[in-house]
Amino acid sequence: DFLRKPFCPEEFYCRITQNIENLSNIEQIQKAANTDYLTELPNRRAFFQNAELQIADYIKKQTPYCLAMLDIDFFKKVNDDFGHDAGDHVLKVLALYMRKHLGTGLLARLGGEEFAILISGIDDDQLYNKLDDFRRDIAVLQLNFEGKHITFTVSLGVNLSSKDSMAKQLNDADGALYIAKENGRNQVSIFGIEE
Ligand code: GH3
Ligand code: MG
Ligand code: MG
Repeated sequence: DFLRKPFCPEEFYCRITQNIENLSNIEQIQKAANTDYLTELPNRRAFFQNAELQIADYIKKQTPYCLAMLDIDFFKKVNDDFGHDAGDHVLKVLALYMRKHLGTGLLARLGGEEFAILISGIDDDQLYNKLDDFRRDIAVLQLNFEGKHITFTVSLGVNLSSKDSMAKQLNDADGALYIAKENGRNQVSIFGIEE
């Protein structure tokens, strides 16, 4: 912004305030565009914007990582049995737990009851265990929403191979998730060694 000399102090301060407001508005709009309104996790757009950069960094530093897809089991039934608000509550609680267990990674709600996870670790075993421990913790969670007692489980498909493009890695993780569902849900299935 520019002011021609001579200018009065009021106008100078007014312009500064206006510019600060504009910057703050832009920041808020950017945040809203990248955040899922319900869970406050990054959304699909943010995930696809940031995952590739994060993966490039992991590869550069030779840090083992994995991409996983998560889907709530029989979520339609949660809505049917307890109502849509209860379903929303489950989504929020799940996001909180994801942050708590897998917080250092890139977590996102891709849509509906489907989430993407990009985490790093020491090796494949530890990465798998992190996801499976998380799954177990969710399975024993006892929620109380407006007097209703709710339990739920999640299925995950994980891709531990880092040779392909991100899109392919995620797609293969999704394939593994499908197998986890087929095999009875409430489990983590690994791409490449699913049965
Ligand atoms: P599966 O174990 O095979 O994944 O079964 P499912 O019932 O979880 O899967 P399905 O795709 O049949 O149902 C997903 C449900 O998720 C249907 C939809 O109403 C619900 N859903 C999607 N987004 C939201 C949301 O933001 N809030 C609530 N409460 N429900 C949602
Ligand atoms: Mg789904
Ligand atoms: Mg589901």
